Amino acid sequence: MGKIVVLPPHWVNKIAAGEVVERPASVLKELLENSLDAGARRIVVDLEEGGKKLIRVADDGGGIAGDELGLAVAAHATSKLAREEDLYGIQTLGFRGEALASIASVSQLELVSRPGEALEGARLEVQGGEQRGPMPAAAPPGTAVAVRNLFWNTPARRKFLRATNTELGHLIEAFTRVVLAYPQVHFTLAHNGRTLYELPAGQALRERIGTLFSRDLADDLLSVVREDPGLKVGGLVAPPRQARSSSQWQYVFVNGRCIRDRFIGHAVREAYRGLLEGSRQPVVFLFLQMPAELVDVNVHPAKSEVRFADANRVHSSVLAAIRDRLLSTDLTAAVGREALHSDEGAGARAVRAADGRIEEEEDRSGGGGESQDARRARVRQAMADFFKSASLSRPAGRCGREWAPAEAATAPPQPAARAREAPATGASERTGVREEEGEPGAPARRFVQLHNSYLVTETEEGVLIIDQHALHERILYEQLQAQLGEGRLASQRRLIPETVEATAKQMAAAEDAAEMLRQLGIVLERFGPRSLAIQGFPGLLEQVAAREFVSDLLDLVAGESGRASREELLHRVLDMMACKAAIKAGDPLTDGEIEALLSRRQGVERSSNCPHGRPTTIRLSLSQLDKEFKRT
Ligand code: ADP
Ligand code: MG
Repeated sequence: MGKIVVLPPHWVNKIAAGEVVERPASVLKELLENSLDAGARRIVVDLEEGGKKLIRVADDGGGIAGDELGLAVAAHATSKLAREEDLYGIQTLGFRGEALASIASVSQLELVSRPGEALEGARLEVQGGEQRGPMPAAAPPGTAVAVRNLFWNTPARRKFLRATNTELGHLIEAFTRVVLAYPQVHFTLAHNGRTLYELPAGQALRERIGTLFSRDLADDLLSVVREDPGLKVGGLVAPPRQARSSSQWQYVFVNGRCIRDRFIGHAVREAYRGLLEGSRQPVVFLFLQMPAELVDVNVHPAKSEVRFADANRVHSSVLAAIRDRLLSTDLTAAVGREALHSDEGAGARAVRAADGRIEEEEDRSGGGGESQDARRARVRQAMADFFKSASLSRPAGRCGREWAPAEAATAPPQPAARAREAPATGASERTGVREEEGEPGAPARRFVQLHNSYLVTETEEGVLIIDQHALHERILYEQLQAQLGEGRLASQRRLIPETVEATAKQMAAAEDAAEMLRQLGIVLERFGPRSLAIQGFPGLLEQVAAREFVSDLLDLVAGESGRASREELLHRVLDMMACKAAIKAGDPLTDGEIEALLSRRQGVERSSNCPHGRPTTIRLSLSQLDKEFKRT
């Protein structure tokens, strides 16, 4: 090992750059923050080639004096901390004094600035740690920072930059995370000379969300506001029907800084508890204001996480703010009566959590929206219906093992649970399952559909209770996998392509995943800055609403982008396809469809569980039944 030496500043900056400058989007974030700290009212962003060639941010803020330009790009040089104590009450977005130094060490940087009171401006160029200037330059009041050829001198990192569209997606996401918190500032963003966003000053938050996301979402948002001592929570939250399949649509700002925080994330999910199906995630735009001393922002190099002095209080305020709003809003159309009813205890839960007892109330109800009592009642009713219909099919007065399928066939069908003979033929369009003849000579098995959700049928050994959705999902999944094994899935070209709104990040993720999606028969093409056209859609998903499917798909691929391997992602998408195409709980089925499902059940590997691992089938053996009825 060599001698220990103190690294030259230029190296130190390059090392620090590893933490601060991950990609063009991180540069944009830092530059925007600097402009806002300088009090800018108007900020113009110009990008070229996904920021790889150019990221330029020009503002009309306070500017930097010519003789301080060199300091601005020096490490640990900042105008934002005067005293050490200031670190415990940060009022600005920046404070670490390392952004410009780090950026300058891995790019070609040009800084032109003029404080309002100065007669002329000055320019400084930095390249690979070498400074040129400052020299006088004509400039309007304010500052313009141009960052060219990011990572030109660190080829290993340059290699990690992704396709232009991917980087553009990240850039727009970074832009979004800043501009949402500064409605009083005018922002524009252009890429390769084309203006993508023009956000006038004074625009209402809802308007801005409409421009950045979608009009439809913006129109649906509910405003929340709550004031507790030392903490204000405000913003817009979406009703449950706008929920997404990923949590990336949750924007949380603390004192104007967009952060990720698990306490707040938990509070948001809690607030929607019982109102969302399964893994759906709420969409929220939340703004917290609190005294700077009560939140430590110096816990993450990119300043994207914070530490609260009293996280429990933050949790309870956020939970109460959203929950109160949701409870006072008529969401009936969105979630259906059942979900609301099953969540009667939510108000009480919210209050309990508001007392600060977060852990205690974690998942006591077992996670599902339905209370145990309600669930028990529903299952009992289903069983009662089933046995009512079964007993009707027994000849009166006979109570014994002789009860046989043939006899039962004479029973009249019941409205709630019809006992049905399996028909031998008939094709099922919806289940996509070709009906197969039963084994020759085998007696037709009988079945009933209960609550349009469960199929009950008999076997030699006993009784099967089948979750129709889970079973169909498994069948489709296997079918899709088999087809994929032979090549691409068949795609149907759309004559009139539907368009889907997408965030920039989703656009980029879709572009990245384009080849994989094509393999699955899904062909998406860019259609304007914020939408994609569905050019092709899998034949197998004929019955599925393409727009809704693609919108969920985009959440999935954007959420997994960079995290899941290609293989994992492929399976997640397959999974989703099977789930969406499968018949649902609540769908009434024709006899032909039921028969088709049941006959396919035998042919499918792993038919006992759906692709998510939930059981498709519950088996009750005759001996089990005998035991339960104390016949043995
Ligand atoms: P920090 O923002 O943490 O202070 P930076 O490296 O981002 O560190 O910036 C260093 C200094 O350069 C800032 O403290 C500020 O004084 C000055 N500066 C940077 N950008 C601007 C700008 N757009 N307008 C005015 N001053 C700026
Ligand atoms: Mg800064």
